[in-house]
Amino acid sequence: MRTQIVAGNWKMNKNLEETEVLLSELSAKLPDTNAEVIVAPTFVNLPLAVNHLQNSVIQVAAQNMHFAESGAYTGEISADMLLNIGVETVILGHSERRAYFGEDDALLTQKVDAALAKNMRVIFCFGEELGERKSGGHFEVVENQLKNAIFHLEKEQWKNIILAYEPVWAIGTGETATPEQAQEMHAFIRKTIEEAYDEEVAAGVTILYGGSVKPGNAEEIFSKPDVDGGLIGGASLKCDDFTTIIKAI
Ligand code: PEP
Repeated sequence: MRTQIVAGNWKMNKNLEETEVLLSELSAKLPDTNAEVIVAPTFVNLPLAVNHLQNSVIQVAAQNMHFAESGAYTGEISADMLLNIGVETVILGHSERRAYFGEDDALLTQKVDAALAKNMRVIFCFGEELGERKSGGHFEVVENQLKNAIFHLEKEQWKNIILAYEPVWAIGTGETATPEQAQEMHAFIRKTIEEAYDEEVAAGVTILYGGSVKPGNAEEIFSKPDVDGGLIGGASLKCDDFTTIIKAI
């Protein structure tokens, strides 16, 4: 049985007080679930989240990190700094990092390697843009994103990889991939991994779907056999919506 995960990417939202309020609400209202629940607040609020969730099953993730150990990288955060405050999971390759901060496959390879070298878990995001889907190139795009950034990994490193398929056209747009589109792509991803590695790696890796998952559509998307949970943006900012999504798994 694969690990099922519901992760909330809070992006550049919630100040200190608002973070505390949402963490308290989530802790109080977290439904009974076998799925792992992760929240990813902004960097400055990570220590608060780690402290607040010390006795909780909710895990904390960072939204990004730099590949270097330390040094002259103004404004950046290293794996060691995250580990030092108790954060062991990091989201890498989010489409907003790719689009607005120029993160490409080569840079992401370095980041993935740096995180795994420190034994961190990586939630690796990837997915096609609207034009790529419309032209029918979405499978090739996704295959290349995986091949270029993570298919160099050794088999045993995959235990620390969580994949998040996030079609760019569905992120923050209110437009969701249909459950069938999500399943079709997730099955393709698993087949691609099986070809590059083996059945064990392909069957074992958790693949999340991300892109306008809401309380109203989560259950249908999560019901698909190759969808192991979700990476949730907007709907993870409201306790009721996020907990309803967690219940849906
Ligand atoms: C995301 O940012 O990873 C995401 C899926 O956002 P949203 O749920 O708002 O589409």
